[in-house]
Amino acid sequence: MEWEPIHKSLQALKVQPNLIDYEQVYRDFSWDNIARELDGLPDGRGINIAHEAVDRHAHGARRNHLALRWLGKDGAVQDFTYADLAEQSNRFANVLRKLGIGKGDRVFVLAGRIPALYITVLGALKNVSVLCPLFSAFGPEPIEQRLKIGDGKILVTTERLFKQRKIAEMWERLPSLEFVLLTDATAHVNEDILSLPVLMAEASPEFTIPPTDPEDMALLHFTSGTTGRPKGAIHVHKAVYVHYMTAKYALDLHPDDIFWCTADPGWVTGISYGISAPLCHGVTTIVDEAEFDAERWYRILEEQKVTVWYTAPTAIRRLMRMEMEPLKQYDLSHLRFIASVGEPLNPEAVAWGMKMLKLPIHDNWWQTETGGIMISNFVAMDVRPGSMGRPIPGIEAAIVEKLEGERVRVVAEPYVEGHLALKPGWPSMFRGYLHDEERYAKCFVDGWYISGDLAELDEDGYFWFIGRADDIIKTAGHMVGPFEVESALLEHPAVAEAGVIGVPDPMIGEVVKAFVSLKPSYKPSEELRLELLGWGRTKLGSAVAPKMIEFQDNLPKTRSGKIMRRLLKARELGLPEGDVSTLEKSAEEEKVTQ
Ligand code: ATP
Ligand code: MG
Repeated sequence: MEWEPIHKSLQALKVQPNLIDYEQVYRDFSWDNIARELDGLPDGRGINIAHEAVDRHAHGARRNHLALRWLGKDGAVQDFTYADLAEQSNRFANVLRKLGIGKGDRVFVLAGRIPALYITVLGALKNVSVLCPLFSAFGPEPIEQRLKIGDGKILVTTERLFKQRKIAEMWERLPSLEFVLLTDATAHVNEDILSLPVLMAEASPEFTIPPTDPEDMALLHFTSGTTGRPKGAIHVHKAVYVHYMTAKYALDLHPDDIFWCTADPGWVTGISYGISAPLCHGVTTIVDEAEFDAERWYRILEEQKVTVWYTAPTAIRRLMRMEMEPLKQYDLSHLRFIASVGEPLNPEAVAWGMKMLKLPIHDNWWQTETGGIMISNFVAMDVRPGSMGRPIPGIEAAIVEKLEGERVRVVAEPYVEGHLALKPGWPSMFRGYLHDEERYAKCFVDGWYISGDLAELDEDGYFWFIGRADDIIKTAGHMVGPFEVESALLEHPAVAEAGVIGVPDPMIGEVVKAFVSLKPSYKPSEELRLELLGWGRTKLGSAVAPKMIEFQDNLPKTRSGKIMRRLLKARELGLPEGDVSTLEKSAEEEKVTQ
């Protein structure tokens, strides 16, 4: 099905967008101008993410503006102004200093979305230590693995997680780990296991950020592990230019916005856009401690008067599956912009947004490695459902073909699929995979960063996602991207989610196979299976349509909600599952490991 573009008119937008004339902003863009919109440390002492995010506002007109509103899962609410965040993060930076944790030392945090996590992130950045978040539902193994790779020197966690994740047991295998700080212990346990509240109360509320080189390491982010073993991507303080600039142009943040990024700070989105980007703009950011719940989410959008909402396709598909009519039950009149990242956003989801929320969902593309949004649908630009949009100002993106001998050719023609590549040099580009230089070097070919994703361009410069290079299916002489097949299946009213793989076949190379989960009101049946096979043929033609369909209640996903096609394939073929440290567990399995 051809999806009609969604036309925008400036008159219909509630707020004048930050980016109106894309071509002009793109052409005139310079990083120096962005640097001028930010502050820099006093006396030319460099640039520090936490200064831009917090201190700059705490010392200025936004001092008493609500910076972060925390919604506890049991109904508690905690508000932090910019002045509060500055004071708390100063205290935490002093705690680190007192314990001898300095520049470049690795500060790990393992916690749910609790206030202490946000203070830890900001305080560690102030101290020019390196912050590495660990997703709170990780079991002991992935935690140990990451603490080891990252040379964790100090770990901030809760009493519950400390016990349940068996941190004490793994400690003897972690020679770099010196201290554990417990966010909820009322007293120190011993010399190495300390109470964070006690240390915070003793610490001074004053702290001067030491000189910070723009190239000083700031963050260590492990990738989602969708395609294999997670890699530790290194980011520097200068990345803040991209956090700020993309929030201005791609998320269209304005000073009075109430912004909600639903991503967990265990992943890059939850740090770049859950913390740094909104705070750099001095807006109010919402943090919800609870897990996904459709009614709760709509209620938060309503009660908190959220204006800009940044979420993920997996969450949108879950909302779609509920078959609710949100606008009938909730007042979402404050919401003016919705964006999504993490996986391809099926055109059906964009259409659902238009129908159910009266707003399009704006897809954007980036990776842990890129540190910030690189390709985006902009508020003032027409949305082409299924497209990721156009490159952010300051970012040169292209489709390239890999040639023999480490050469590439930039594909100028539209509708030719190739590698999605970026011209290196943007400020939030990763500076390495920790302890894996070879792998890092391999990402750069002939002057381009090769992302590992395949895409194509249309004649107007919009990028269209095809699939990850690893997931492409070769069938009877065709290259099939799973996204196209999954999107077609998702248009069927019964389908909630689809994951598509290639199953080796001696005759045609690979056969397209789809795993499908159904909406609650549908049950698997032979009839429905045949119907979906027919649906696929009609929508896609027989060369691309799935030949096999299997119903599955839940598709395997990463903890950040991405469908793990490699696991569907390994299970189908009876092959080893590989690294499953980021695999989402079912509620029952979760109970067993806790
Ligand atoms: P790993 O690298 O460990 O396999 P991962 O690639 O899923 O995991 P992330 O860095 O979290 O780790 O995800 C980035 C990837 O997510 C992109 O390379 C792309 O494949 C996918 N992605 C992100 N946004 C989009 C989007 N808007 N459309 C399509 N795919 C997207
Ligand atoms: Mg990746």
